[in-house]
Amino acid sequence: MRWCAVAVAVLISIASVLWGSGTGIESAARTLRDGWRTHPASGDVIVVEIDAKSVRALNHWPWPRGLYATAIDRLQADSARSIGFDIDFSSPSQPAEDERFAAALRRAGGSVILPTFRQRADAQGEAWIESLPIPSLRPFAFLAAVNVMPDVDGVVRHYPLGISSAGAPRPSIAAMLAETDAGTGRSFPIDYAIDPTTITRVSFVDLVTGRVPRAQIAGKRVLIGATAIELGDRYPVPGRGILPGVIVQALATETLIQKGICVSLGSWPLAAAAILIVFLLTRARDERIWLAAMSALALSLPIVPMPFAGAGFEIDMVPALFATLGALAAGVAMIVYAELHHRRFVDLESGLPNALALEHAARDLASIDLTVARFDRLTEMTAAVGSAVSAQALRQIAHRLEATLKTAIYRIDDSSLAWPSAGGKLDDEDGHYIGLGAILRSPVVVNDLSLDASPTFGVASGDGREASKLAAGATIAAKRIRATGGRWDRYVDGDSDVRLWKLSLLSEFAAALGSGDIWIAYQPKYDVTLGRITATEALIRWRHPSRGAIPPDSFIPLIEEEGRAAELTAFVLNQALQDVAAWQRQGLSIGVAVNLSATLLGDASLVPMVRSALERHAVQPAMLTLELTESAVIADAEAASGALSGLKALGLKLSIDDYGTGQSTLGYLKRVPASELKIDKSFVQGVVSNSGDRLLVQSTIELAHAKGMTVVAEGVEDQACFDMLASMNCDTIQGWFTGKPMAAADFAMQLREIAQAA
Ligand code: C2E
Ligand code: MG
Ligand code: MG
Repeated sequence: MRWCAVAVAVLISIASVLWGSGTGIESAARTLRDGWRTHPASGDVIVVEIDAKSVRALNHWPWPRGLYATAIDRLQADSARSIGFDIDFSSPSQPAEDERFAAALRRAGGSVILPTFRQRADAQGEAWIESLPIPSLRPFAFLAAVNVMPDVDGVVRHYPLGISSAGAPRPSIAAMLAETDAGTGRSFPIDYAIDPTTITRVSFVDLVTGRVPRAQIAGKRVLIGATAIELGDRYPVPGRGILPGVIVQALATETLIQKGICVSLGSWPLAAAAILIVFLLTRARDERIWLAAMSALALSLPIVPMPFAGAGFEIDMVPALFATLGALAAGVAMIVYAELHHRRFVDLESGLPNALALEHAARDLASIDLTVARFDRLTEMTAAVGSAVSAQALRQIAHRLEATLKTAIYRIDDSSLAWPSAGGKLDDEDGHYIGLGAILRSPVVVNDLSLDASPTFGVASGDGREASKLAAGATIAAKRIRATGGRWDRYVDGDSDVRLWKLSLLSEFAAALGSGDIWIAYQPKYDVTLGRITATEALIRWRHPSRGAIPPDSFIPLIEEEGRAAELTAFVLNQALQDVAAWQRQGLSIGVAVNLSATLLGDASLVPMVRSALERHAVQPAMLTLELTESAVIADAEAASGALSGLKALGLKLSIDDYGTGQSTLGYLKRVPASELKIDKSFVQGVVSNSGDRLLVQSTIELAHAKGMTVVAEGVEDQACFDMLASMNCDTIQGWFTGKPMAAADFAMQLREIAQAA
């Protein structure tokens, strides 16, 4: 991916070199570096300045040339190494003065340098002329160019080694003073790191009046020129403000003395190095490291040329900088894009790939089995533990599944994981899903809470391009099988067989009620305080002649949907009250609980039906408890409260069933005139192994007691669970440990045995 960054770096560096962009940045960086590198002049060069003081002392400007003759004589006498004038001698003055000057030049043995400068012949013209000293001076002096060449912005950065004038090569005055072997046409950068204020300057008037000590002059290269403001000749330079031309010449001379001819390496070396580093950095695994390294590179580039400049090499860094910044921008853009892409395909809560990712992964597969594992048990806990915890639990489960199945696992909704596999490859599907269930049975631990994750599986087969449809089907199958207590189920397209099955069941229902295929099982309710069975719950059973036992959870919803719940309830109530009355006659006083369909709460015939059943069997209302699920009470609170107060008025007891699976609070349920709370077995079964469940059960018991309700724990299967609940002051236990649901005769026999033993 970061190859793109390398490509951007290459393109930008080429473009930037070709277009020569960023010179402003280049100069600014150079000025900054010069500021850091700042150092004094060598002291080899001294400037004899025609300053304001000299102009005032020697009034009358221009000066008679005899004064320059005096200056030459003084400097010669003091053993100056060389003397250069940055003063215009291109027009004659008084002949006697010119003659005096020429004589001094002659006395100096021709070692003095006089200036020439090249300029345009006129403002518009292309022609150039070179202004030379007047002919009478020329034979006794060296001639050197004093042209200063500002950049387009008027700032002087470079200086010529020499210029070609009218076809003749002419060294610059700095090259000559520095005794550098000059070539025309080349220029070099003036080193503005040399502090111009450290160049020794002496006043012209002091020199000619003999007030400059010999030691200051001996062996020095002397430049004579104007610094007084009124004489003009001033240039802006980088980082050092505006300098007189003679000081610029002196700095150019110093540059040559200190570093020789500076070699310009251009911008390629650094650009190539930057591209190489950008390339090497593509190997960085961690994005943060990459970002940090790239930023460090970009930040260091403006400084890199510093040591080179000290050694006399000039390097341009802007193309390298632009290349790096471009690559950085491209890289950041790609990181942002990847992150956005990632967010689309990942469930942020769990970090697992989501349903969209599943669709993408499956779309190239022709025939797949799509399995959905539903963790309703876990999501029921979400209200208590928070969605982040259940998401973490799902993540752990997904890792377990990944390790077993060697395939990616997707979180397709809050309570489901899913994965595709090659269609029809499983020999023993039953064994496969039972095995998976077993692997997931051990609880997952999140934040010290151990959570029960037992899932149900749904499978749908079909075309990988229809993964979302298959997932929906598999989800239906997984939910459906949960209701029947099974482990896994297959979704068949349209599930027509399921519909047929429903229809045939409904048609057989009435007959089954009469034939005895539908009967009532009784499960004991054990009073912990009294230490005996005091009541029983009537549970409907359907033993189908060809299908075998049909679990109540799979046919009761059908009956309710068909609006035949009253029929079913009347049957159970009559049978249960008849049995209770019979036991009473045998001296066995036992209460009975009957489950009430939620759909009946809005039914006006409910209360009369219950009253007439009680009357018919002459059972005291106090012996009857009606169990209502939490969700039933909440779904239609208004209808429920009318029916419930009617039932309550009959004198019977109301109980809230499957507490914990709904979303209600105990506070809300208190409005229901129930005197008993049954904690759902899914929580009860976790009290020993699962701290989350234990917490929920314990606090429910305490709250229910505070509100004057008794608590039944359902689904108690072993001694440990029983003991734990007893220690939590649970009032009543119902479960396989104290008795499985059994036929009326078996239940009565058990009651009698206990009564005899007592
Ligand atoms: P429920 O009212 O919560 O009944 C308790 C269920 O837990 C029963 O399942 C019972 O067999 C089961 N059970 C009891 N002890 C244990 C145990 O220790 N371990 C385990 N694993 N299970 C235990 P069943 O009989 O399959 O009934 C399921 C549900 O069907 C009932 O849940 C109730 O909601 C409904 N139902 C049953 N009979 C009737 C009825 O006559 N009318 C209506 N409307 N609903 C009924
Ligand atoms: Mg019940
Ligand atoms: Mg229950």
